[in-house]
Order: sequence, then C-alpha cells, then structure tokens
Amino acid sequence: MSDDILITVAHLSRHYGPIQAVKGVDFELKRGEVLGFLGPNGAGKSTTMQMITGNLAPSAGKITICGYDLLDEPKNAKAHIGYLPEQPPLYRDFTVDEYLNFCARINRMPPERIAAAMATAKERCGLTEVGRRLISNLSKGYQQRVGIAQAIIHSPAIVVLDEPTVGLDPIQIREIRVLIRELAAEHGVILSTHILPEVQMTCDRVQIINRGELVFSDTIKNLDQRMNAATLLLELRNPPAETELGALPGVLKVENLGKNRFRLHHNQDESHAEQIAVHAVKNNWGLLALTPERKTLEQIFVEITSTEQHQPGTEHAEAAA
Ligand code: ATP
Repeated sequence: MSDDILITVAHLSRHYGPIQAVKGVDFELKRGEVLGFLGPNGAGKSTTMQMITGNLAPSAGKITICGYDLLDEPKNAKAHIGYLPEQPPLYRDFTVDEYLNFCARINRMPPERIAAAMATAKERCGLTEVGRRLISNLSKGYQQRVGIAQAIIHSPAIVVLDEPTVGLDPIQIREIRVLIRELAAEHGVILSTHILPEVQMTCDRVQIINRGELVFSDTIKNLDQRMNAATLLLELRNPPAETELGALPGVLKVENLGKNRFRLHHNQDESHAEQIAVHAVKNNWGLLALTPERKTLEQIFVEITSTEQHQPGTEHAEAAA
C-alpha cells in the first residue's frame, strides 16, 4: 500500500531572511492522483514546488520521494520527478527532437532507451509531427507541450506542473487538461494553478496554501459537498408573513431579497426542501421557485483565504519577531 505514496512532505518550512514563505507544511501525493495546489499570490506555492523538486533547499522539514529522502539521496529522489516550472526551461534554438534528446541525457537515461522514450513523450504530448521544428517557431501551446514532454521524458513517478495552462488559448487549455488527466493514470501529478475551474476539472484532491500554511486539504468530491450552500432560494406569488417562513421546518433564518424572493438558511445537509414545498402548496403561497443554492469554488477559496486577514504591512511579522 505504501508503494502508492509517491511523496511525503513533513513539517516543510522555508524562510527568505526574515520572510517565512512556507511554514510547517505536511502532505502526501499518491499514485494515480492529481493534486491541485492553490493559493493567492505570494502564498508559498512556487517555493513549495521548488523544494519538492529539489531546486531549493528547505530551511526545515523532510521530503521523501518514492522512498528516498530528497536531502540525503538527492540523485535517487530526483530521478523520480519531472518538473515543469512556471517558465518552461526551453532552448529555443534547438529542434524539439534535439531538446528532448538533451533532456533525456541530462536525466541520465541509457542511450539505447532514448529514442523510444522520445517517441513516447512526443506521442503523449501531441508532438510527433513537430520533432524537427525549431522550438522558437512553435506556438505558445506547442512550446508548453514541449515543456511537459521534457518533464515526462524519463517516465518519472511524479510530475510537478507549475501553472501549465497560463497564456494558452481555450482549445490548447483543454488539450493540456486532458493530457494532465492521462498522465495521472501512470504518474502522480501536482498541479499549481490560479484557475479555479481547472482544479475542479482536473484534480482529485485540492490543497490551499495561505501565507505559507496549508489551510485546506480535501478531495474534490468533499469540496463539491462543501459547495452546497446551506440556503434555499424561495420565490412565492402570495408570501405569508416572514415569521411564518421562519417557522418552516429546519429554517434558521430568513433573508428577504425583495420581489417576493427569500433566502432560507438551514443547517448544512438539512434543507427540508420537500416539506417546505408541500407546506407552500398546501397554504396556497403560489410556489414559483425553491432552489438549493450552490457556492462557487471561488467563494470557498475567498472564505478560506480571507479568514486570517492580516493588517497591511504586517505580512510575515511573526518571522521577523
Ligand atoms: P504567486 O502565485 O504570486 O506565484 P506563490 O504562492 O508561488 O505566489 P512564492 O513565490 O512561493 O508564492 O512566494 C512566497 C513568499 O516568499 C512571498 O512573500 C515572496 O515575496 C517570498 N519570496 C519568494 N521568493 C523569494 C526570494 N528569492 N527572496 C525573497 N523572498 C522571496
């Protein structure tokens, strides 16, 4: 079972001088999983990515990659990771084939396996037709595909993608998302993004980092549950007094939205919508609408990341103390 855990991050921290960019972060990545990494600007996403890919030394904490301690056995650990940084590390004067060949060699692939690995990576990223073209002449979407191809050329167990769809057109974005889901079949994927629908469409699990701390970690399925707002929107042709609405089963609070529309607040997962509908019909209230409301991921993200609002100018004050 533990073979399925690809990354274990324990109490990971990093400071830049007095700035505590990442504070005691713990998480795991399992095989077959796409883990979305979200957070506002400056939250610590890129710092975390750079640490788990072995490009930045942690100030404290432990990172285990496929059983290898990244600090004690960096070569063995890094061999299992493919990384697409925010700025893809492309050599624009190379052809796609030259570049992927170079990447395979720096990943220490045995020479006899390189041609097959290049063919597979190109096929998976839709690059088979452009192997002989100069990277500088490719569109941004194709350049991004080359960036992903270099991350998977050595068939790493883990693929880390930092904002892989930034700057792409909607069709390219769709293709890259499909590719990410396909990668998850064999690898574990960590995806950092600012695009919230991307998380819903692509990820199995989501983590939110805020001011260096993990403030949310759950499956997309549970997140979906959480998006069920604890409210019903009610519209009536002949509404009764608000006190009568407040006395309906399970209703905790009534908000009058005007024009005979009301928002009924209830406990999460206890809406009693059916009983309310029956009651409204029986009492001739002229039921026009009774709809459970849904929060957007954006609302949840804002709720989570704004709960610990800090005063301007006090950012990371505790680190300086
Ligand atoms: P974004 O979404 O804007 O890319 P992020 O979540 O990736 O942000 P990081 O780039 O990890 O955030 O930055 C976390 C904090 O560390 C920020 O306060 C940032 O200013 C600071 N920081 C990052 N890199 C350095 C550095 N090299 N030197 C000093 N401070 C840094």
